[in-house]
Amino acid sequence: MSFITINRYKYLPKQYIKSSIIFVALFLALLPSCETVPETNRTQLILLDQQTEFSMGTKAYKDILKKSKISADKRVTKIIRRVGRRISRVVNRPQYKWEFNLVEDKTPNAYCLPGGKVGVHTGILPIAENEAGLAAVIGHEIAHAVARHGAERMSQSIMVAIAGEVLAQGLTRNEADRQAMRAAYGIGSAVAITLPFSRNHELEADYLGILYMARAGYDPREAKKFWQRFSRWGKKEKKSSDSDFFSTHPANKKRIAQIDDMLVRAMAEYSHSAKIGAGEKLATDTR
Ligand SMILES: [Zn+2]
Repeated sequence: MSFITINRYKYLPKQYIKSSIIFVALFLALLPSCETVPETNRTQLILLDQQTEFSMGTKAYKDILKKSKISADKRVTKIIRRVGRRISRVVNRPQYKWEFNLVEDKTPNAYCLPGGKVGVHTGILPIAENEAGLAAVIGHEIAHAVARHGAERMSQSIMVAIAGEVLAQGLTRNEADRQAMRAAYGIGSAVAITLPFSRNHELEADYLGILYMARAGYDPREAKKFWQRFSRWGKKEKKSSDSDFFSTHPANKKRIAQIDDMLVRAMAEYSHSAKIGAGEKLATDTR
């Protein structure tokens, strides 16, 4: 991209001042958009109101459902909905319209879209092994939604787009160059809501998810066992697809060691809950 040419440098000082003023004004305008993640108290920038976020989640969910086959396995569907009901009760988000489905798909995957639409692939059932393993997966995915990681990631991409526009305005007066700069950025769409999360978001979802499962009565030590099984599965299968839950959720030693640290608080929470332990075993013929 050749948006800076020697003869345009003469415009830079004045344009830089303009850009700086826009940046400061934006910073002040965005301050009220800072929110706090429950439990971790991390400050996050959220530019989307929850209604917009939910309608994007609903649209993404409809698109996914069009391509998905809902499983006819009534027993496991019932278990998934039971786990989902127990976890959604402890996260206490009455504005969410929870829905839990078992999706016929061999790839080990699960998701929770903004607004509370949860899908669990049949391919993750042998790794989840029991109800508590499912609670670890569903708890983790619900945590992404409750901590509004999708909206936060979209807000970051909007900020990048705004920064790109300010730079385009500041660095060049040539409209064609500005267009080229804008094209290099881009505001997220409903599709962006289903992209993989950052490592920090993953860590936060592990932490919140393990607390949720413990409060819901599931033994949080089962979360560690789940990630260990997932790690073994990954080594055996050597999966590397970009859309795969395994590649976006590496079950490495570091993650498992961090779960050990999280277990201290989770076990304290578990001691106060109505204990279910590992819960019901999932069927061996789950495909
Ligand atoms: Zn995740």
